[in-house]
Amino acid sequence: MRFLPWLILLVLIWLAFRKQQNRAGDRPSQDFFRAAGGAANPESKSAEVMVCCAQCQVYVPQSESVLKAEQRFCCESCCDKYSQTQTQTQSKS
Ligand SMILES: [Zn+2]
Repeated sequence: MRFLPWLILLVLIWLAFRKQQNRAGDRPSQDFFRAAGGAANPESKSAEVMVCCAQCQVYVPQSESVLKAEQRFCCESCCDKYSQTQTQTQSKS
């Protein structure tokens, strides 16, 4: 049984290697679950509150909307157009 110490050493090396692999494997699996949670995020994003643009009546996610004068807009240009029409109607009246 001359090779027994080598066999034990080999098993120990293999165990250490496997432990290292498990440690390294733990993080990607956690990242995988985070990625799965991140993959679930688009669902929550689609469930986000949609607001109507005061200018062109296009619905946009609240986070992407432009808030000005208590009105929601899909973009800055709509915001500018709206403020222009508001000042026009104000000057008319
Ligand atoms: Zn708009």
